[in-house]
Amino acid sequence: MDEFALIRRYFHHRQGEDVVLGPGDDAALLSPPAGEQLVMTLDTSVAGRHFPEDMPAADIGYRCLAVNLSDLAAMGATPRWFLLSLTLPQADPDWLRDFSAGLFELADQAGISLVGGDVTRGPLNIAIQATGSVLPGRALRRDGARPGQTLAVTGAPGLGGLGLRHWRAGMRDSQSARHFARPRPALEWGAALAGRAGAALDVSDGLLQDLGHILSASGDLGAELVLADLPVNDELAALEAEDRWALQLSGGDDYGLLFTWPAGVAVPEGARAIGRITDGGGVQLHYPDGRVSDAEPGGWRHF
Ligand code: ADP
Ligand code: MG
Repeated sequence: MDEFALIRRYFHHRQGEDVVLGPGDDAALLSPPAGEQLVMTLDTSVAGRHFPEDMPAADIGYRCLAVNLSDLAAMGATPRWFLLSLTLPQADPDWLRDFSAGLFELADQAGISLVGGDVTRGPLNIAIQATGSVLPGRALRRDGARPGQTLAVTGAPGLGGLGLRHWRAGMRDSQSARHFARPRPALEWGAALAGRAGAALDVSDGLLQDLGHILSASGDLGAELVLADLPVNDELAALEAEDRWALQLSGGDDYGLLFTWPAGVAVPEGARAIGRITDGGGVQLHYPDGRVSDAEPGGWRHF
């Protein structure tokens, strides 16, 4: 199968009305919504580094798009178009069929159109560039936190880290492993928080590290984090406390949103308040037994 036949067969899919010209010409032609700002992101997923080599192709397709959509969600953007750069060791029809099925399952759910890309031969590597749009002034940024604001999360931090652990142990049907293989980008949350939250980002590198990005972008602020308030699923709840805290604070691949909210105002239903922003002094962890300790910058260590 030549490259053009491969693209036609696996990557021509129905497109939104904002696509004037999709795959097949020299470049895509798009109609941005009048008056909105464009939001662009790109994430590369390398086999063995960003996903396990033996992950099913449908999950790989889903996941590679999910991590990009998560960045659009974290900006409060509406997903519109994406480009796909696919580097493949060989053109395996079964793999391509499953990969594109997983990819378009999520693309259709999110209402985003594949409008072009590139295919080359080499070690498996998938780069996706996604574009969304947002009304001026409503984007969720990292620099909008202020002292006194409530700190809140959607989803359960630690789920992705536990999911990777389960995946490696062969427990691939656990709730956490399914979350790891197919993280759900928090697009509804992004839309609900746009124009309302102080600061926001998606938790991809671990709660403490990502919290650090908000604190430094907002001007060297600090935070109090109440460990007992971190949301858990049954699988996280079943772990020893120290093991659970390590995953909750430093595990990655969660893809919920971490955001700040006006002081004294209840966070939206379904999100969870987990602490508050302070005017400096790093991150203080409040343990269930009343102890308070400084978090290591960028991570968490057993004490
Ligand atoms: P060019 O040589 O002009 O860059 P390509 O051969 O790379 O063209 O691509 C031909 C057309 O197919 C372009 O419109 C491109 O966007 C599209 N395309 C290439 N790879 C993909 C892909 N993986 N998914 C969707 N469209 C693709
Ligand atoms: Mg090209």
